[in-house]
Amino acid sequence: MTTHLVWFRTDLRLHDNLALAAACRDRQAKVIALFIATPQQWLQHHMAPRQAAYLQAQLNALQTQLAQKGIPLLFHDVADFAASVEVVKNVCDEHQVDRLFYNYQYEINERQRDSGVEKTLDTVTCQGFDDSVMLAPGSVMTGNHQMYKVFTPFKNAYLRRLKEGLPECVQAPANRDNGACETTEIVLNLPQEPFDTTLFPADEKTAIARLRHFCQQQAAEYEEKRDFPAIEGTSRLSACLTLGVLSARQCLHRLLAECPHAQDGGPGAVWLNELLWREFYRHLMTYYPELCRYKPFIAWTDNVAWNNDRTALAAWQQGKTGYPIVDAAMRQLNETGWMHNRLRMIVASFLVKDLLIDWREGERYFMSQLVDGDLAANNGGWQWAASTGTDAAPYFRIFNPTTQGERFDKEGVFIRHWLSELNAVPEKAIHEPWQWAEKEGITLEYPRPIVNHKQARIETLAAYEAARKA
Ligand code: FAD
Repeated sequence: MTTHLVWFRTDLRLHDNLALAAACRDRQAKVIALFIATPQQWLQHHMAPRQAAYLQAQLNALQTQLAQKGIPLLFHDVADFAASVEVVKNVCDEHQVDRLFYNYQYEINERQRDSGVEKTLDTVTCQGFDDSVMLAPGSVMTGNHQMYKVFTPFKNAYLRRLKEGLPECVQAPANRDNGACETTEIVLNLPQEPFDTTLFPADEKTAIARLRHFCQQQAAEYEEKRDFPAIEGTSRLSACLTLGVLSARQCLHRLLAECPHAQDGGPGAVWLNELLWREFYRHLMTYYPELCRYKPFIAWTDNVAWNNDRTALAAWQQGKTGYPIVDAAMRQLNETGWMHNRLRMIVASFLVKDLLIDWREGERYFMSQLVDGDLAANNGGWQWAASTGTDAAPYFRIFNPTTQGERFDKEGVFIRHWLSELNAVPEKAIHEPWQWAEKEGITLEYPRPIVNHKQARIETLAAYEAARKA
């Protein structure tokens, strides 16, 4: 009898899992699964305690599902990726594994680890799959076989490829003949904080139900609602996509089942667009691995003379800048581990362009808080906001945090939810509470703006200009 090993990483699901499906295709083979936790490595990359808790919950849910299918999940906990190569080798030796199946990860350290594993396993056939994207990196390229650096032509080429043939979703494996396996609770050796299960689906079944509900009820109206943080207008599936509890292909198929014209600009097209941003950043990372080392895409932006003001950074982190939309957003992040996309853009712009703090400080802080923290999307988002990335906002485009608040949370519903100290402030004054308080002779339990936006804008433009000319 041959033995197949499936190595799970950020693909914690049974449905539409290419590596798992391939490992189970041979009904006669014995299939075992493996997950290796590398806490030291993850902590070096600022894994959020809530993401650790989410990962632990998903792992235990996966273990139960696999066990019901007759596939045991082996769990190992080692310091870092170097040690995980040894673990794979030992597991293969111990279980006399013939074939190893895994889904690719595109980050640089993960790719090095995988090539280390393949070199070490001389008697085991290794097979990797492009599972975390709809189309494999390298399959959507310019006419000169280069990776696109601008999103819109990438998206158009991507849509053309999808029209030629949608990537298929594979089924969850059937039960193996050996009956159900025993399970032991998996505990990750990482700092953890509880996450809100109403925000983040606790297992694969709930994630699939959330996706179905979103595509049936909300995807068509996504375009109108997605920018308003007080409304539940987005899917909140990012944490599931990050850990692979859902696949991007499942999202695509479900969307097209409910919104058949999404590929042609019809209802649902804007949500598809967001899924393609996710693909864009993943494809980019495979072509520009330096992005994983926190290098800016536009080299001259490394000359910007960043402001190393730790007090201002702490005020931003704690939601105490005196700009209500920024502070409410940061408190949403700190208290839930998630932040609305519009707000991610606003707070990122504020940190970089109002406080002139290095975008990498923001990137790190986001990773330390987000349940959906994902290197490619987070790096892409920060480099977009900081104007250091490919197809980023130009450096002279600087969000005004007050007008952003007025546009996207006009009545201050979202602000009041997170900043109870502004409850007494009337609607028309909610975006500049200090102006109102001073007129009324009231002292607020809320900080004054830590920076003057107009002045900061001038200084930031000058700093970018100087860097560009350096
Ligand atoms: P929806 O609006 O429902 O979108 C559906 C899915 O598409 C998301 O779940 C996500 O997987 C993907 N997506 C949406 N927008 C983007 C985008 N701009 N870039 C890449 N993928 C996108 N997303 C992460 O998953 N992890 C991160 O660490 C992350 N950091 C970010 C940092 C900054 C500064 C910015 C501006 C954006 C960041 N994003 C990140 C992208 C985006 O904000 C989140 O994916 C989105 O808010 C998640 O909410 P949702 O699931 O309701 O998204």
